[in-house]
Amino acid sequence: MTTGIRIFKTNIAAEDGKRDRHGLSGSKPPYVSHAHNTGIMLPVITYSRNVFLPLTFVCRNACGYCIFRRPPGEGCVLSPDEVMRILRCGAGAGCTEALFTFGEHPEEVAGFMPWLEDFGYSSILEYCYAMAEEALAMGLLPHTNAGIMNADEMRYLSEVNASMGLMLETTADIPAHRNCPGKEPARRIAMIEDAGRLKIPFTTGLLLGIGETSSDRRESLEVIAGLHRRYGHIQEIIIQNFCPKPGTDMSAFPGATLQDIQETVRMAKEILSPDIAIQIPPNLADAAKVIPCGVTDLGGISPVTIDYVNPEHPWPALDELRVLTKGYTLKERLCIHPEYIRRGWFHPRLRDCIKNLENAVHMRGTFVIPAKPLYEGKAKSVYSSEKPDELIVVFRNDMTAFNGVKHDKFTGKGKLNATASEFFMKMLEAEGIPTHFIRMSAPDTMIVRRLEMIPLEVIVRNVAAGSMTKKYPVAEGTVLDWPVVTMDYKDDERGDPMINDDLIQVFHILTAEELIQVKKMAMDVNRVLSRFFDECGIRLVDFKLEFGKAAGTIYLGDEISMDSMRLWDKVTGESFDKDVYRFDKGDVITAYRNVLKRIIPDVEM
Ligand code: C5P
Repeated sequence: MTTGIRIFKTNIAAEDGKRDRHGLSGSKPPYVSHAHNTGIMLPVITYSRNVFLPLTFVCRNACGYCIFRRPPGEGCVLSPDEVMRILRCGAGAGCTEALFTFGEHPEEVAGFMPWLEDFGYSSILEYCYAMAEEALAMGLLPHTNAGIMNADEMRYLSEVNASMGLMLETTADIPAHRNCPGKEPARRIAMIEDAGRLKIPFTTGLLLGIGETSSDRRESLEVIAGLHRRYGHIQEIIIQNFCPKPGTDMSAFPGATLQDIQETVRMAKEILSPDIAIQIPPNLADAAKVIPCGVTDLGGISPVTIDYVNPEHPWPALDELRVLTKGYTLKERLCIHPEYIRRGWFHPRLRDCIKNLENAVHMRGTFVIPAKPLYEGKAKSVYSSEKPDELIVVFRNDMTAFNGVKHDKFTGKGKLNATASEFFMKMLEAEGIPTHFIRMSAPDTMIVRRLEMIPLEVIVRNVAAGSMTKKYPVAEGTVLDWPVVTMDYKDDERGDPMINDDLIQVFHILTAEELIQVKKMAMDVNRVLSRFFDECGIRLVDFKLEFGKAAGTIYLGDEISMDSMRLWDKVTGESFDKDVYRFDKGDVITAYRNVLKRIIPDVEM
């Protein structure tokens, strides 16, 4: 009688397609990963988690397109206190890179020095050195882009920097650079060459749409390729498009078109050695259309917002990245790329920090969101992961009721349920109940153990409500003499019919022993959750669980959230769960937030 019953929902055929949207050739092995579970090769896109530290906006250059530059004045130097605050926030958000970017030789600008001297420093590089030391002490690797520096200055900063950068921008002589002593192409090339001699892992790049032509771009790329052939130190090249800004000399300039960007990325792929990462800023308009042209890196992504500290929303950019890189393996990297770590191209002072961060990044794992989910539920999507025994569960913002008849989307709902589920899974694990939870990789994304799901909805009821009051003569709110476990056979088309112990065994869904174990686990969950909710002033009316097996062990799977429980205020009887949505009782997101406020008071949602 086992035939015809689909027991395991994650035993789904491998996704289709040996996609090579990335256009990678076999000559790019460092960027190609193997998704072991499917045999499909997903191209890798890397990024670095950083904090951005603009030590000063004062700059000796006056580029026609720039809005970064400001005159000396109050607040023109980021104070050490503010630097420390950003670093602390970055360290707390799991950042690995402290990006020091600031105006070029601000000391040459009249009126600047007193502001710097106020903090006890006599040059911006000396200040940068001191702040880089602070970053290292907090476990972040500094990367500095200070504009033009000579070899001595770079050698000095390389003691506390894992990598450095300078945009070549263009080899062309363009009007936009007329008032910029540091933008003379020969000076920039000379500095990149010095960095090569000093064995400094280096980032450079092109700025598109500032008055250069397509052949200028080709020439710039060829110059970079030549420098790398000679010194082997260019780890990334940024293809950045200039966006005209109001209030600048070039506000009416057309900037670069999508075609320009795509063409330049393709050119870079053709001209540059494959070990140079091709980077675009992911906030670029239409990044999704540029990535397939050959992009392999998305640069520094800051989970700490630009107006600095916003710790309750530490992942906005990472969330967007996941969407952008569907169909790729999103992999975190440090600001010094693995090849340069292997070669030992860093000062001994950086060794410990590099090793620690390498481990941290490794532990966080790669983030693969294949283009197509393995399984699309009503409110969650399940994706395969690089690791064959793990899955990625994305809690979506969809909300459904009555077997999908009612359907809406609510912003933030996925995160609320994922947060609750993470909280309860951890609590149950601590109480000795095995769950599929491994870790969170974003606020709405959970990495879980791959289970063979058992097609049962295991419902525990403490108080009569919902379908129980429809099917049986019992009034809503009646406290049951003892908690009861009922089970439904998971099958949307048949309306999830209730199933009994005999049927479960005769259909070979579970053995008698497994059935006893599942019921015991459900009762254990009820004991732990009921006690906990009671302390929070909430009555756990009923809830639904799902279980699965891996290597002979039964684990709690699926989710435990406001979607799968009935929760009533102990005093007022007010609902805090999906019934608010089912029966239009009010704002369901406010209700879900109220639950989180009660159960995890420290978390702001
Ligand atoms: O609808 P019914 O009263 O049988 O639901 C019992 C409990 O199980 C409720 O907490 C409900 O939210 C949950 N449930 C669920 N998913 C289902 C059916 C019920 O989460 N498919």
